[in-house]
Amino acid sequence: MTKGNINVSVENIFPLIKKFLYSDHEIFLRELISNATDATLKLKHLTNIGESKVEYGNPQIEVKIDKDAKKLHIIDQGLGMTAEEVEKYINQVAFSGAEEFLDKYKDSAKDAGIIGHFGLGFYSAFMVADKVEIITKSHTDAPAAHWTCDGSPEFTLEEADKTERGTEIILHIAEDSTEFLEESRIRELLLKYNKFMPVPIKFGTKTETLPKPEGAKEDDPAPTKEVDNIINNPNPAWTKQPADLEADDYKNFYRELYPMQFEEPLFNIHLNVDYPFNLTGILYFPKMSADLQIQKDKIQLYQNQVFVTDNVEGIVPEFLTMLRGVIDSPDIPLNVSRSYLQADGAVKKISSYITRKVADKLKSLFNNNREDFEAKWNDIKIVIEYGMLSEEKFFEKADAFALYPTVDGKYYTFEELTNAIKAKQTDKDDKMVILYASDKDAQHAYIEAAKEKDYEVLLLDSPIVSHLMQKLETTKEKISFARVDADHIDNLIKKEDSSISKLSEDEKTKLDELLKEVIPSEKFMVQLEAMDSNASPFMITQPEFMRRMKE
Ligand code: ADP
Ligand code: MG
Repeated sequence: MTKGNINVSVENIFPLIKKFLYSDHEIFLRELISNATDATLKLKHLTNIGESKVEYGNPQIEVKIDKDAKKLHIIDQGLGMTAEEVEKYINQVAFSGAEEFLDKYKDSAKDAGIIGHFGLGFYSAFMVADKVEIITKSHTDAPAAHWTCDGSPEFTLEEADKTERGTEIILHIAEDSTEFLEESRIRELLLKYNKFMPVPIKFGTKTETLPKPEGAKEDDPAPTKEVDNIINNPNPAWTKQPADLEADDYKNFYRELYPMQFEEPLFNIHLNVDYPFNLTGILYFPKMSADLQIQKDKIQLYQNQVFVTDNVEGIVPEFLTMLRGVIDSPDIPLNVSRSYLQADGAVKKISSYITRKVADKLKSLFNNNREDFEAKWNDIKIVIEYGMLSEEKFFEKADAFALYPTVDGKYYTFEELTNAIKAKQTDKDDKMVILYASDKDAQHAYIEAAKEKDYEVLLLDSPIVSHLMQKLETTKEKISFARVDADHIDNLIKKEDSSISKLSEDEKTKLDELLKEVIPSEKFMVQLEAMDSNASPFMITQPEFMRRMKE
């Protein structure tokens, strides 16, 4: 048996770990299961490349509570450790074995999905345990090792008689952490952090009902069988290729993510990029209610299928935090503050990639099935309008598919809208005037009056649309918005549009001269205002000032 001191630079690191390493004590389980997963995936990799002779088989991870002895066990069938490896990887705190493994097998292992990064994960066990044991048998011929540490920098290391390969971690749960001996609490944690981890995780057993045997009587009870209770789905939809998934797979995954959500998502966006950063995920557009009610099902952030957080602020542009779904990226630095995150170059790239993908998806939905897009507009406009206001890049893209509905249920893009009104709704400053109503009933009379004059009236009723109007007025040239009941709209001018005039310049001059001869110009103003095929060829008006001169 070896005795020794754990190699740390501070006198006693454990009180520090307990206090500062993670504010959330519950993450110890995530860390230990991540290590068990890493150990399993490492073995898979080694057997794949012929560096391990063992049969990989169908390894799983087991979590077991021994309430009477106040112990929690995490057992894996991964590559295990020799005594030397325990010395090296466990005793040298902050020396991350995962990092070393990735360094050594850099090229072949970069897709192996190894989770560890920081070399402190294992020690998070001391946040909830006052004694920790490791019993581990390497996949090599080396004898098994048994490491024990009671939370001081001293440890013991001796041989053990474990014969199956893999590692068992035993936590002697501390007095102040007995919640982690409760089955319901552990189940809750497993479902929160490990629901989509890549190695099956067993937690207890469950009773499965089997089909009745041939010839069984009506009231014979159906036979049952005790089977492993596997709490995770090791192959969640976002880890697959979009080409391998059907619409139903996306819907089913949504239900898996949000079992309490009964409403179907409107559509989804599959994220999948491996250069210049790694990111996978599926985002869903839920039906968005106009009152921006506080949303409880949020986007979840994973790293290599380990749940990290559902606070994606700083990683996803704010307007997209209204969406739901999953983002998985090993390239998002986690043990850092939010403000650091926002300044991080990789995170900025990720954020703008996501924005671009969302814009592209909306564009293609618009292009491929405009009718459907229009039907969904009311449920998605909040996100789009908010995005146009807050992200310049998104504004540029969304300009092509953002819709402006009229009171009659027509939907215009901005370009279509200006084309429709440029000839008939211009003010004296030569600006196109976009009329809108926010309440069809309250403004009914004005809407009717405007329609009488053949004006287009938009129905803009979302809570942030007034900000969007301002934004459009400053970005677009020569437009202004006016409420349909604003008093100046009676004076909109119908403008000549030379592109549709039926007269040549020459004919116009002749006609002009002719009209001036027959109509007294001191009393009337003659305008050649042919606007469209139905309009009168010219208009004779008596401007206000001339009318006054007469009096
Ligand atoms: P990291 O996972 O970031 O490397 P940890 O403190 O979580 O840091 O673990 C330290 C090292 O201990 C791991 O890199 C690994 O080499 C070893 N280790 C921990 N748990 C296991 C396990 N269940 N099986 C095999 N090796 C393990
Ligand atoms: Mg780890």
